[in-house]
Amino acid sequence: MPELTIGSATTRPGEIVTGWFDAVTLPTGGADRFPVIIAQGKEADGPVLWVTASIHGGEHTGLITVQRLITPELVAGLHGTLIAIPTLNPAGLRVKERRPYYLDGDPNRLFPEPARSAQESADPDEKPPSGLQLAYQRLYEAIVASGASALIDLHNAWIGSVPFVFRDPIFFQRGRAGGRKGLPTRAQAQTLMERVNALLDAFGFTIVNEFVADSYVRKNLHRSVSGSVLNGAGIPAFTVELGSWLYVEPRIVEACLVGLRNVMRRLGMLKSAPEPIEGIPVLRPDYPVRRCMHPYAPEAGIVHMLVQPGEPVSKGQALARLTDIFGQPVGEDGGTLRSAHDGFVLGWPHGVVRYRGEPIMVLAIRDEDSLIVPYPA
Ligand SMILES: [Zn+2]
Repeated sequence: MPELTIGSATTRPGEIVTGWFDAVTLPTGGADRFPVIIAQGKEADGPVLWVTASIHGGEHTGLITVQRLITPELVAGLHGTLIAIPTLNPAGLRVKERRPYYLDGDPNRLFPEPARSAQESADPDEKPPSGLQLAYQRLYEAIVASGASALIDLHNAWIGSVPFVFRDPIFFQRGRAGGRKGLPTRAQAQTLMERVNALLDAFGFTIVNEFVADSYVRKNLHRSVSGSVLNGAGIPAFTVELGSWLYVEPRIVEACLVGLRNVMRRLGMLKSAPEPIEGIPVLRPDYPVRRCMHPYAPEAGIVHMLVQPGEPVSKGQALARLTDIFGQPVGEDGGTLRSAHDGFVLGWPHGVVRYRGEPIMVLAIRDEDSLIVPYPA
């Protein structure tokens, strides 16, 4: 499929073209549009890679990385087509906010739901879809119609957090005669996961598994950009977290550029030799890990962190100390909060104040669960 049109951008072999994808009509006239950049090699036949960024408007590293990635030098050696959307949330980006001001919720939970049952879509009281949801639906259809080989969605996590990639679970159809359409068999899900793993391996960052199964669906992560494209369309997809938001760390941009080019090499879009990831920590414990908010504040207080993002932790290790506003310990053991898990620190939720029940830290912990799971009933 050498010629592709996304919004107003149509590929030209050997060139970079730009255009607009109409998104949300505004009540005051005009519209929010997603910018589209397409780079196609002179040899137009080949894989199609999508790179999307900034669906959370305060997350800017992906936007900068996309702009740095697509250059005439890249196109000179390119086979196939690279399609980039520098922002999936122009309204949020303009005001540096996570969500667009016209959406009450997380924009990264609005992509089409994989395998929606007929029962669910027949709910008469269901709110009609918003303009943004419909725009994401149309974009999803464009991604599928482009014959996408893979999709990478770029984000930021917490201030000072380690860069990493999320590996999503893949759902398969339970039994043969379920009510949900479009889900793969267990064997197909296994094959898809192997393709995802090959790309994650090529990307070269720390790999962290997403929440699994029920928790993943309850949090609507199956409707994130990568979750929806992966589980709804069977296209290998993953989310990259590029450290601090509202702040661009040059070493993380460089590492992400290397990761993206290495994925293009794995897909056969670039013929040059893989480059090593440098300048960022890459954590590869000898067991798989998943993300986990831990521990939770047993009481309200001020938190003193005892371990840094990227630092390994073991069961029983002191992670933080909780004090009152005068600096006196809150709770037992001198206010010490200990880890119930082996793993490492991904990042800290922002700030030092915690109300009772709020997470102290974000860890990556040992994960024995399978990521290939039946779709929750
Ligand atoms: Zn994000």
